[in-house]
Amino acid sequence: MNRYDVIVVGAGNGGLVSACSVAKAGYRTLLLEKHNLPGGCATSFVRGRFEFEVALHELCSQSTSAEADSVEKIFDRLGVKNEMFYEKTLFRVVCQGPEGYDVRLRTGYENFLDDMEAAVPGCRESVKALLDLNGLLDEAQDYLAKGQINPAVLFGKYGDFVRAASHSMDDVMNALGIPEKAQRILTTYWGYLGVPTDDMNALHYLSLLAAYTSASPSMPYHRSHELSLSLVRVLQENGGEIRYNTEVTRFLYDRGACIGVVAGGEVFYAKKIISNIIPNNVFNRSPQEQIGRRDRKLANARKLGMTFCTVYIGLDATMEELGIEDYSVFIMNNTNNRLQFEDRLDFGMYVVNCLNKALPEASPSGTSMLFFTLPCMPGDLPKDLTARGYKRFKEEVAEKYIRDYERVMGVSVMDHIEEIEVATPVTFARYLATPDGCIYGYANEEWDNVVTRTVAEPLDYRIPNLYFCGGHGIRGDGYSSAYITGAMAADKVIKALKEGK
Ligand SMILES: Cc1cc2nc3c(=O)[nH]c(=O)nc-3n(C[C@H](O)[C@H](O)[C@H](O)COP(=O)(O)OP(=O)(O)OC[C@H]3O[C@@H](n4cnc5c(N)ncnc54)[C@H](O)[C@@H]3O)c2cc1C
Repeated sequence: MNRYDVIVVGAGNGGLVSACSVAKAGYRTLLLEKHNLPGGCATSFVRGRFEFEVALHELCSQSTSAEADSVEKIFDRLGVKNEMFYEKTLFRVVCQGPEGYDVRLRTGYENFLDDMEAAVPGCRESVKALLDLNGLLDEAQDYLAKGQINPAVLFGKYGDFVRAASHSMDDVMNALGIPEKAQRILTTYWGYLGVPTDDMNALHYLSLLAAYTSASPSMPYHRSHELSLSLVRVLQENGGEIRYNTEVTRFLYDRGACIGVVAGGEVFYAKKIISNIIPNNVFNRSPQEQIGRRDRKLANARKLGMTFCTVYIGLDATMEELGIEDYSVFIMNNTNNRLQFEDRLDFGMYVVNCLNKALPEASPSGTSMLFFTLPCMPGDLPKDLTARGYKRFKEEVAEKYIRDYERVMGVSVMDHIEEIEVATPVTFARYLATPDGCIYGYANEEWDNVVTRTVAEPLDYRIPNLYFCGGHGIRGDGYSSAYITGAMAADKVIKALKEGK
């Protein structure tokens, strides 16, 4: 009989950390993954002489708060070791149009303020007030995490936290008197969170900005695949088991409680199940009468988050020879991120990364690599694509954006392409098995943002023995959020098992 203490479904970032954590705590653990390799988004693929990073532009590995959990702390606890590289330029943003700008921002508090002041003279003090607000937000969150909340303290000492937590990023920047142009530059990262900043919770956006600014974005030496493999190693060293090519097709219940899964034609039972796959897919693999009406309504009410078209290119010349200067460039056709979002299929905003800038030996000597990321929303793809039309669609998207990048940046790419691969939401839907190929879980819109999700966490999905982790979890999308929710789900499971629940 296949009996375990804990079964984890899906070996994405969240699932890997959950599985390692419960195995390390001594519980008999099984991790089931439908693919032949771990990582989900966090992986790489090889074409010719190039190993391409699939997803990671930059890892937010540290938190700005000493108390809060972070990727670094989780990896230290688990004994995960990786060689990481830190990028000292946050990004270059090239915004076209009459109000356009071309700005590079460096990491480090003072560097960042200096670069903002150089780009928008007179903005320094208001931008400083914004960055400093993050310190108060951290302090408030540490206070809340202690659990004994006194409303007088919360509203008195941490009033700014309450205001920031319940307003959009644009509201907070306006309240601080940050000039319009500086606001636009500061909100360049909106695409990483998938929601324009008039609808993006201030606390969420600011914590990301402050973490990247203070701790520098990082990348693993051997692509994300290295991170995922090192987590698998920790799982196995702690007696955990991982089965690849084993898709979970059914979740099993007894009187409303989840008790096991069917995968690869076998039945597996466990005291606790942690799902790294989105609740919608769990419910679709469960007998409908076992899922409460409220849980189904919640899954249906939530809006799926952003997805991408991506273009991975191996070039037969170095970045210097081609005129490429930066690791990460955001290219926009106007200054307003709401308009960029609306114009997302027509150059509103896209990102181009050249890993060789951060890691010169990322590709063989005399070559370089580019990674284009083009935001789209579920449903954006043409509805009537045939197999041949789909191939043409991919070619057209790649050509359109490569030509634009050449034009805007004055570089040469087209004549040097040695390898090229294009992924679309269809690719991500097939690979990750997410609805509409969403990679960001649920949209972090104002009504369903990380703050409201955290506050309402006890009221989230409520199926006994079933826990969730990953980009669709309460922390929103991204590597660090997925790892952190993996650790959170494991903590809950370990506590419940210890208490004999
Ligand atoms: C192109 C791209 C760029 C990105 N850039 C960044 C970035 O720069 N920084 C950042 O922080 N984040 C980035 N992200 C987002 C980040 O990759 C994700 O938020 C995060 O990796 C999601 O992790 P997850 O734990 O939700 O697992 P997922 O990656 O969603 O993996 C889920 C796993 O479950 C498996 N699975 C699914 N169904 C089943 C089943 N029925 N049975 C068994 N296994 C199943 C899948 O095969 C997969 O391995 C990017 C994503 C993409 C695609």
